[in-house]
Amino acid sequence: MLSEGYHSGMINADPQELAKFSELAHRWWDPESEFRPLHQINPLRLQWIDSLAPLAGRQVLDVGCGGGILAESMAQRGAQVLGIDLATKPLKVAQLHALESGVHGVDYREVAVEALAAEMPARFDVVTCMEMLEHVPAPESVVAACTALVKPGGWVFFSTLNRNAKAFLFAIVGAEYVLKLLPRGTHEYEKFIRPSELARWCRDAGLELQRTRGLEYNPLTRRYALTHDTSVNYLFALRRPVA
Ligand code: SAH
Repeated sequence: MLSEGYHSGMINADPQELAKFSELAHRWWDPESEFRPLHQINPLRLQWIDSLAPLAGRQVLDVGCGGGILAESMAQRGAQVLGIDLATKPLKVAQLHALESGVHGVDYREVAVEALAAEMPARFDVVTCMEMLEHVPAPESVVAACTALVKPGGWVFFSTLNRNAKAFLFAIVGAEYVLKLLPRGTHEYEKFIRPSELARWCRDAGLELQRTRGLEYNPLTRRYALTHDTSVNYLFALRRPVA
């Protein structure tokens, strides 16, 4: 299934989406900015990833890394991390931040995941792609590329937003209009992805689903928690079978 506007051979990216993230890039590391949700969920997802696929000493690829919140934190756990994105400013911010924090073992490149898959097949122990699929014209192509990049036996992690009435209410009405956690227009409902759809793309690519988790936001405590409720924000942990 190829989404409107995308044909193989073209770059699988929406220029308006990339511009949106570039415009906000200078505030990426401000924990009270529109990136607050990413800062808040980061320890939760980092811990979950590290518990399933211990990061120390591993080759890790972070797809759609943005300003590097997850990439840098994985390097701090001892992984050798490559972060890729197609938005220039967030990548610059990520590079500068890595210099500032003096973290070792993280590099950044502006390259499409499909192009990297052709260049470095089966090179990574762990591939992460968080909060990115819902911004891309053909997410199934990203899933296939991530699968090609991971070694047999390696792990792939995705997170995205579910598509149903509750997700619309929480992720768009709640987060963008009522609580104003995110700028209006951050997310488009039509691009949200049901777990069944993501599971099918993963299966078609040859990945085996190991675990799913949900992320829940409590507006009273202003905290997130990892749960088993995948109705809004959810994560998949998958493995590429050993040959
Ligand atoms: N994964 C990071 C950032 C999420 S924000 C985190 O969870 O902390 C979404 C990111 O996806 C932005 O940096 C945006 O530039 C990037 N993105 C959007 N479309 C993309 C594409 N087609 N290829 C690569 N990155 C893309």
